[in-house]
Order: sequence, then C-alpha cells, then structure tokens
Amino acid sequence: MEFETVIGLEIHAQMKTKSKIFCGCSTTFGAPPNTHTCPVCLGMPGSLPVLNRQVVENGIKLALATGLAINRENRFARKNYFYPDLPKGYQISQFELPIAEHGRLEIEVAGQKKTIGITRAHMEEDAGKLVHDDLEPNSYVDLNRTGTPLLEIVSEPDLRSPEEAVAYLKKLHGIVRYLDICDGNMQEGSFRCDANISLRPKGQEELGTRTELKNMNSFRNVQLALEYEERRQRDVLLDGGSVTQATLLWNPDANRTEAMRGKEEAHDYRYFPDPDLVPIHIDEEWIERVQAGLPELAGERQQRFMADLGLPEDVAAILTSSRDLADFFEQVCAAYDNPKKVSNFIATELLREYSPEQINACPVSAQQLAALLQMVEKKTISGKIAKTVFADMLASGDDPEKIVKEKGLVQMSDEANSSPLSARSLQPIQSRPSSSGRARPRSWVSLSAS
Ligand code: ADP
Ligand code: MG
Ligand code: ZN
Repeated sequence: MEFETVIGLEIHAQMKTKSKIFCGCSTTFGAPPNTHTCPVCLGMPGSLPVLNRQVVENGIKLALATGLAINRENRFARKNYFYPDLPKGYQISQFELPIAEHGRLEIEVAGQKKTIGITRAHMEEDAGKLVHDDLEPNSYVDLNRTGTPLLEIVSEPDLRSPEEAVAYLKKLHGIVRYLDICDGNMQEGSFRCDANISLRPKGQEELGTRTELKNMNSFRNVQLALEYEERRQRDVLLDGGSVTQATLLWNPDANRTEAMRGKEEAHDYRYFPDPDLVPIHIDEEWIERVQAGLPELAGERQQRFMADLGLPEDVAAILTSSRDLADFFEQVCAAYDNPKKVSNFIATELLREYSPEQINACPVSAQQLAALLQMVEKKTISGKIAKTVFADMLASGDDPEKIVKEKGLVQMSDEANSSPLSARSLQPIQSRPSSSGRARPRSWVSLSAS
C-alpha cells in the first residue's frame, strides 16, 4: 500500500527581549541558577504580571511578515497543569484569542514551490528547567527561564515530507532572524520545534493517528527524527498494526525516537482567561508604526541583489536565505566592490563549510575575505592559491596577508610584482558604507515592562 506523510509543526521562538514577559527580570542565558527571578516569575501569591510591550510588538512583526491576520483584541489565558518547573501551577498563554491567525508561508523543495498554512501564532511564557543529577537520585529546578517570552507558531498539517518540514522550519527561522526578534539558536533551545507526523493511505482524506516528536535541536535532527518516524509508522501499518498516539523524544545518539518516561497525560488544561491581565488592544496606528519600522526582509533583499548588483536569481536566493549570510556578503562587498566575485567565492568555498544559518560561526571576517579577494584581483596570488589560503584562514582565523607571506605563496611569474597594482595591494582596505541607503536597525529596542 502507498502512504502519504502528513506533518504539522509547532515552533517556539524565544523572543530577544531584555526582560521577561511579565516582570523586569533579565532573559540572559547561562546565569547561575535562580538568580534571574522575582516574586512574579516565581509565582508568589499576590504578585501581579505586567505585560512587556515589546513582546506584543514582536508578535505584530511576525504577523506582518507571514501574512497572519492580527486579532485587534486578543487575550491571555491560563493553561493549568502541574509540573515542578512551573511554580504557579499554570502557564500564561493564549488560547481562543491568540495575537494572530491564518497566515501562510511559501517554501521551495527541489524546485517546487508550495504554500504552507500557518494556523496561529500566540504569545506565552516559558517554564523553568529541571536539572537531573546523574550520580544522586536528585533533581533540581532552575527558574531563570520561567517567564521568558515565547511566540508559538503552529502550522496546518500541510507538510508532506521531512524535506518540506525542514524547508518550512528554515524559512521561519530566516524570518525571525530577519525581524531580529529571536536569536535563532537551536542548540540553546531559543528556536525549537515539536513535529507532529502521521501517515495515511494515499487518496484518503481523513488524517491518520499522529505522534509528536520533541528534542530535536538542529535542522538535521528534525530531518532525521521525521525520517525515522516515517519509516517506523510505515512498518507498523504495513504489519497490519496501528500507530499509538504518543509524544516521543528523539535520541540523537541512538538515532531513534523513544517513548517519554511516564504516562501520557490527558490534555485537559482547563484553559480560562487570565483575570490578572487585561485584554490587549492593537489599533491600526500601532500596526502601521510597526510596519513602517520593519527591516528589509529576505524577498525584498533578494530582489535588490538581483536588480542593483546584477546577481542571478538562484545566487541571490541563497545569499538572502539567512540574514546573517546576506549581512556578511554585503560587508565583504563594502570592502571589495565586486558582487559577482564575492558571491561566487561565498557560494563555492564558504557555503561548503558553513550553512547559511551558521555563518556567524565562521572565523573568517568579512574584511579578511575581502582582503583575500583583492589579492587575487591584484594578481598577488592566483584564484587557485586563494582557495588554499582560504582553507587556512578557516582553520586559523589568520589574515590572508600573513598566511601568504609565511607560506611564500606570492605569485612570482607575472606582471603583478612589477605592476603599479601591487603597491596598492599593500594599502589597507577601505571600508565604505553598504550600497543600500536603507536603514536597517539591528540594535535592541530599549525595553520597559509597560
Ligand atoms: P495539540 O495542541 O494537541 O498539540 P493541535 O491540533 O493544535 O494539537 O495540532 C498541533 C500540530 O499538529 C499542528 O501543527 C497540526 O497541524 C498538527 N497535526 C494535527 N493533527 C495531525 C495529524 N493527524 N498528522 C500530522 N500532524 C497533525
Ligand atoms: Mg502539541
Ligand atoms: Zn521575574
């Protein structure tokens, strides 16, 4: 029998705000346990939450970038459940009136474009973290993360393969990075997803029974977990069995999904409107103000790279697939104004080692790459040698001039050494502002719990 795979993603993006969603505590990662806490995020009786305006503004930004309709009036609800990392006994979230609903995102897989529905986006607070001791039978609780603002973005079950799911995830990751509302760090969990997957006989309309996968902290693990689960469910169904609805954890060491310890609780969260928080009104003026301040997004930037810099569509698409990569590309061009050569080198040499999402981990700075390409331009070294030098730069982080000098890689045979160009190659590279006149603020908006 032929099966069709159905996937829907629930993505949690941690907001890049200085303070938490309902109190003034810092959201900085990695502080000593329980130092970023106060009566509000500790859930002390009698303390009252005060909404951080920036979280709403980030929700508006996301809605504008993904075509979600903004609910002019929305409100917070209490989601009641017990867990030791949740001191109040409820999570403040949104339920029947989220900040935004009914959006869409276009993805592309193997040259095929496809539109994926976004069901909703809502604001909520994160819970704390349990730390388990391996040696003693003890568990500890760290409440620093309690009250960290999140946007949860839920997709329609429109994805039909692990590849589509990862493409959608990357697209959304790109958007929150472009909007600068989330740092996108999957390792630290500030951008994470739960993946719901089911299979159904081809042609059947009714959805099959799904499992929900958690604990994938990279794009690759999302892909692997979904591939594994797709295979596992197919085997169960081909065997005449049925899939049991469950939450499963991806185990990256064993390369398989595993049942979570403990019983699957029935989902009865007894949601009700939070009486401590007034409904949120978002008026046209606020939306217009946010719209006017939106940074240039991937699509616009791609068009600009094509129109102003003459880059082909596919190259412009890759370069703008992550904001960090597009920024890096423009910084190189600011020091060495040859977009074609810069994009070529990035596409062939740099992206072989670093994915567009990880470009900030690359030890080579934009200035260093520009200096290397200028050495080729001035024929101090050949294009072939440049690739060797670049590999060295990636490994050591050293300047190209130093590597070329130390390894004696200067091209001796041609006119380079006698041409007037060679003298100029010793001059420092002058940085000039990016060709775009458009201001794209990167800094944090100053926050106040208002
Ligand atoms: P819950 O809140 O219990 O997790 P939802 O109905 O809100 O459940 O769905 C969560 C996610 O699961 C959504 O992204 C949705 O598209 C997806 N989903 C729901 N049913 C299925 C299914 N049968 N197969 C795959 N994905 C599904
Ligand atoms: Mg769920
Ligand atoms: Zn606090």
